[in-house]
Amino acid sequence: MYSHDVVIVGSGLAGLRAAMELAGHLDVAVVTKVYPSRSHSGAAQGGVAAALGNMDGDTPEAHLYDTVKGSDFLADQDAAEILTSDAIRTIYEMEHFGCPFSRTPENKIAQRAFGGHSYQRACYSADRTGHALLHTLFEQTYRQGGNIQIYSEWYMLRLIVEEGIARGIVAMDIQTGRIEVFRAKTVLFATGGYGRAYKITSNAFANTGDGISAAYRAGIPLMDMEFVQFHPTGLYQHGILLSEAARGEGGYLLNGNGERFMQKYAPSKMELGPRDIVSRSEQTEINEGRGAGPNKDYVYLDLRHLGREKIMERLPQVYHLAKDFIGVDAAEAPVPIQPTAHYSMGGIPADKDCQVLLDEKGNKVTGFYAAGECSCISVHGANRLGTNSLLDALVFGRRAGKSILAATEGASFAPVDEKKELAAARREIDSLLHNGATEDLHAIREELKETMTLKVGVYRNGEQMKEAHGTIKELQARFVNVRVDDRRKNFNTNLLEALELGHMLEYSELIVAGAEVRTESRGAHARDDYPTRDDENWLAHTLAFRKDDGGYELKYKPVTITRFKPVERTY
Ligand SMILES: Cc1cc2nc3c(=O)[nH]c(=O)nc-3n(C[C@H](O)[C@H](O)[C@H](O)COP(=O)(O)OP(=O)(O)OC[C@H]3O[C@@H](n4cnc5c(N)ncnc54)[C@H](O)[C@@H]3O)c2cc1C
Repeated sequence: MYSHDVVIVGSGLAGLRAAMELAGHLDVAVVTKVYPSRSHSGAAQGGVAAALGNMDGDTPEAHLYDTVKGSDFLADQDAAEILTSDAIRTIYEMEHFGCPFSRTPENKIAQRAFGGHSYQRACYSADRTGHALLHTLFEQTYRQGGNIQIYSEWYMLRLIVEEGIARGIVAMDIQTGRIEVFRAKTVLFATGGYGRAYKITSNAFANTGDGISAAYRAGIPLMDMEFVQFHPTGLYQHGILLSEAARGEGGYLLNGNGERFMQKYAPSKMELGPRDIVSRSEQTEINEGRGAGPNKDYVYLDLRHLGREKIMERLPQVYHLAKDFIGVDAAEAPVPIQPTAHYSMGGIPADKDCQVLLDEKGNKVTGFYAAGECSCISVHGANRLGTNSLLDALVFGRRAGKSILAATEGASFAPVDEKKELAAARREIDSLLHNGATEDLHAIREELKETMTLKVGVYRNGEQMKEAHGTIKELQARFVNVRVDDRRKNFNTNLLEALELGHMLEYSELIVAGAEVRTESRGAHARDDYPTRDDENWLAHTLAFRKDDGGYELKYKPVTITRFKPVERTY
């Protein structure tokens, strides 16, 4: 058994930022299934938001209002206010840590336009902002020397919670297959999003929602799972992201007839409307027969008018992704795109100091915290604005570190039944490795992902969701008999895929269940059969609880509204 004061699972921006806050004070372990600099934070492209006002008269208040309006009034406004009022400090801190932000001619941090933001607010490093931020933090973590111990390529299998107290985790060393209990006074989950449950997705292979699943299995409810963001510009059929920065820099969206269709849907913001609205507009064009290509199933991102020089300076990654994956030279031809599953608004419910909530009444789990995309604090409500998520991971990663420091200094270890925990982890693994299983893992996974994209996607309706729910139930039943061909102990990625599929099947049901019951359209949750927002009945957060028989129960809690009364959302 390993022992550390604090165990952080996840080494993206949220996990590393929290670790830095604790280094030198407590004994900290960071457990991560991928090497830290391969965390999905490093794939972020477009920018990180803060009302620096370097290009215009922006203010934190304007940032707050844009965030709340963008959330379709489902964000908890006290939490959103923390996010936006701490943004400026956060950017300067990252700059002082060494992050190479792009500059204006006067050598200020440059800021570009982004969807749903009413000022030029996105600070960026070309279109590799996440890469620059993640490497900066990783360097800073190294600078802390032995104060932070990184367990790279260790896979967290279980969260240990007994009597409302988190006591540690169980994890497997991927290199050897060895399973160990990590005892801790405090556990932080910074395990990222769950976008891999979709076929067309911008998310990394690692984004399988393991953290939310482990929390759920340990008796913690999951919040607002039905809110999944679809990004308007995924590369056609691949889902790979072409950053919103492409539209921030002036890119157009065209339908198959060459029309800038956003004129019809968001005349004042055009291509820079918020993501839910732009994705729906694209889908409507496709559904009504105005898509491009032989099947009329995509639209175009047109950058040609920006000129090759600007494209190569500001959007080099976007250029290369289009060139390398579908052979389109974006300086000469429009790029085929379609909406892609991108961001998980839902996750592990936590308070403003990142402590995890046990129920709808606000009771908390002692010693358990969550930050970054796996958490639902809820600063993004029903729809996140672009560039607010890197900010969320940095602001709340630091905040989690501070509250963990206060809660853990002087605390003692709660007892852990090591034998019992190891046996439970082994049981799960053995059940996957048993002989005679017949179900094909890849077939189940592909059917799940396809079902989620087709039936619980940009537009939803009761009938399709009912079908999707039925399919998920069938797939869950087939999964009991899933076949893992590789029996090796070391680097058994086949086994990891099976564990991850188990997670996806479990929480995908909660996405559908929350969405089926919510008879309204709000933010990213858009129903053909209930096209309007219904504040009277649905201005509420969903909490999904796991029942002992493996089923679930949905409960609701009110949204915190401090400054802005919900109004109709138009752009
Ligand atoms: C392509 C793309 C572009 C984006 N661009 C932007 C942008 O421009 N601006 C913006 O604000 N947001 C952007 N986002 C969103 C943003 O990048 C993420 O929301 C944010 O980086 C999440 O950070 P995180 O620290 O919460 O998690 P991540 O960076 O996803 O890290 C998760 C960590 O958890 C670990 N982990 C997970 N499961 C386990 C397990 N079972 N055992 C051990 N470790 C585990 C992983 O190893 C990893 O280290 C983008 C997202 C994508 C996919």
